[in-house]
Amino acid sequence: MIPTPTVLCAGAAGEVTGSANLIDTGRAKVLVDFGLFQGGHSQEERNAEHPGFDAREVDAVILTHAHMDHCGRMGRLGKLGCHAGIWCTEPTAEVIARVLRSSASLQRLRVEEHASGTVPSMRVLAPASMATGELGRTTVPPILYSEAEAKSTAGQVRSCGYGEACQIAEGVNATFLDASHVIGSASVLLEWGRGLSRRRLLCSGDIGPARSPLLRAHGLPAEPVETLLMESTNGGRAGGGAGGPMVRVVTPHIDGATAVAGGPSESFSEYLRQAVASGRRLLFPAFALGRMQLLLSWIASAVREGTVPEFPVFVDSAMAARICDLYARHGHLLDPAPARLCARGETPFGFEGMRLLRSRRESEGAIAQDGASALMAGSGFCDAGPVLRHLARMLGDEGCDIVFTGHQIAGTLGHALSHGASRIELHGREIAVRAQVRVVSGFSGHAFHGDLLNWAQQRVIPGGRVILNHGSPAARDSFAATLRTHGYRVDLPQPGEAISI
Ligand SMILES: [Zn+2]
Repeated sequence: MIPTPTVLCAGAAGEVTGSANLIDTGRAKVLVDFGLFQGGHSQEERNAEHPGFDAREVDAVILTHAHMDHCGRMGRLGKLGCHAGIWCTEPTAEVIARVLRSSASLQRLRVEEHASGTVPSMRVLAPASMATGELGRTTVPPILYSEAEAKSTAGQVRSCGYGEACQIAEGVNATFLDASHVIGSASVLLEWGRGLSRRRLLCSGDIGPARSPLLRAHGLPAEPVETLLMESTNGGRAGGGAGGPMVRVVTPHIDGATAVAGGPSESFSEYLRQAVASGRRLLFPAFALGRMQLLLSWIASAVREGTVPEFPVFVDSAMAARICDLYARHGHLLDPAPARLCARGETPFGFEGMRLLRSRRESEGAIAQDGASALMAGSGFCDAGPVLRHLARMLGDEGCDIVFTGHQIAGTLGHALSHGASRIELHGREIAVRAQVRVVSGFSGHAFHGDLLNWAQQRVIPGGRVILNHGSPAARDSFAATLRTHGYRVDLPQPGEAISI
């Protein structure tokens, strides 16, 4: 007799990073994603721990998309004894080697910084209620894998076209369906068994908004499934209004005064018009895969339509530049309007003022410019990367705006700044925040509450089962309550919990 299939939620169960799910069909074991835990050193230390399953027994690995919280531990697989094929879509297969290699070199760089005493230090000094100890890494971070191990992991990657059923292990088929989250992202339908023992499990990966301005619509399985393994990142959150993204000022908290977070909101296009007219210099901390392309395509189309004037926009990320090329190469996977641009040999990201900076020298040249400009740099959480160099220069300058467009996880400098930190220490230097800090809502790469519900209803049978993983406890609980009122059975696994399906 075949044992009951199970889903082991080994990461991102009731949290938003460290995605890892082991599906045991009874005959084969399939690992869906193996991502990094992120958000401060206590989280990062979890990355080097035992993953909670025997990787030597894994028969196939699925990668839903190339974000670090879904792929960042994959370079460890060889060392853990897993040499199985890693299945993903073609765009993901094209980018994953570079993503893992740059993660490995970053890990090496961090250890070198510790050895030479040059670790970027950052802490919040004021207001007192937000003051923190060191936000950076106080202990030597673990090296999870070397560049050579990252390369060897990338050698295991196999691509599978959207909508094709690929046999990934004995008796197990996987079908990749558009998830509209980033280029190459997918939900994955796993099917195994025959007759009465036939099983179908749909793993959502990260689900993009129902109407992505950049990516093709969500893909549907041929028929609804009995069980969903689903993310709930934006559970309980309503999406942006019909007017598009909105911007609000984050008022720095002053000790002794009533904290005021958030001024009046205005539309993103109105904000950009004003900022350009008054010659402000904007810094957008953003991730290279997905967020920068979403921002660039939004600005490019606003410039084309004339709602925002042409102004210089610099992208300080060689990785983002390559990913822009990746989107353009896979133009048929985009929403019809950007797809048409790509078909004509144009890019959805391009306009006269846009410059992709592919080296440190080009970056220094861009900084020397006067007048209104925007600069995009990573990391989006302001915990590493070139954005720290730009923050050190711009945070104390009244003529600058720091503009956050993405969710900030607690324990990062981005979280502190977007919640009103008024004085920080960066690289040993005290900086009073004189730049205006702004938060833009409506750019989420994740579907909001209502869209998540529609997504589930279109894919699971009435009364079917939904296992919610990826999402904060509050977001998950909120979405679970809605699903239950619609008659679904909902599981909220804890990290390390195995659920029979
Ligand atoms: Zn993602």
